[in-house]
Amino acid sequence: MGALKTAVVPVTPFQQNCTLLWDEATRAGVVIDPGGDVQDILAAIAREGLDIAAIWLTHGHLDHAGGALELRDALNRRPDHASVPIVGPDRRDEPLLSNLRLQGEMFGLRGLANVTPDRWVSEGETLQVGEHAFEVLHCPGHTPGHVVFVCRAQRFAQVGDVLFAGSVGRTDFPYGDHAALIAAIRAKLLPLGDDVAFICGHGPGSTIGAERRSNPFVR
Ligand SMILES: [Zn+2]
Repeated sequence: MGALKTAVVPVTPFQQNCTLLWDEATRAGVVIDPGGDVQDILAAIAREGLDIAAIWLTHGHLDHAGGALELRDALNRRPDHASVPIVGPDRRDEPLLSNLRLQGEMFGLRGLANVTPDRWVSEGETLQVGEHAFEVLHCPGHTPGHVVFVCRAQRFAQVGDVLFAGSVGRTDFPYGDHAALIAAIRAKLLPLGDDVAFICGHGPGSTIGAERRSNPFVR
């Protein structure tokens, strides 16, 4: 098994951290949250020479999911490749994903397509990046079906819009629930261990330990 490698491609006017994860030895990888700017994502995949096997979604907001169909279609045009599924989030984000076109129009973004994932995910299931196992944690509050992807062996997580460096996800959008968000962070993310590093949906990443010690929302 090779090292787990990561790269971030900021996408959309919201500068969302579309994340590439791959196994260094085999170049087998996944794309998390391709919100848009699909040509930039494809360029990063080509630059790293990755064989993308799946698209994972943390939640159903447009800046995370808005480019998922376009990216899937582009990847599926490659000859001699198994088709690439859109995997996740938890089914409770279906009302958001089936409304992406309207979400976009609220922000002046035209041409977004609603997304129906090929497969929803559930708390506790395991997904693979090459030989690296990622656990799915359901962390509602920012959205009802938000999930986080954790590789315990490599001490790494992709937490979407649940937890940020010094902050937490917004809960003033439809379906937001601040108490549920803080409860999920305390019950599921803080126990992962202080040495777990994370990439989040916006801005710089951090570690669970740094946030446990200094994040005013979760202390
Ligand atoms: Zn969001």
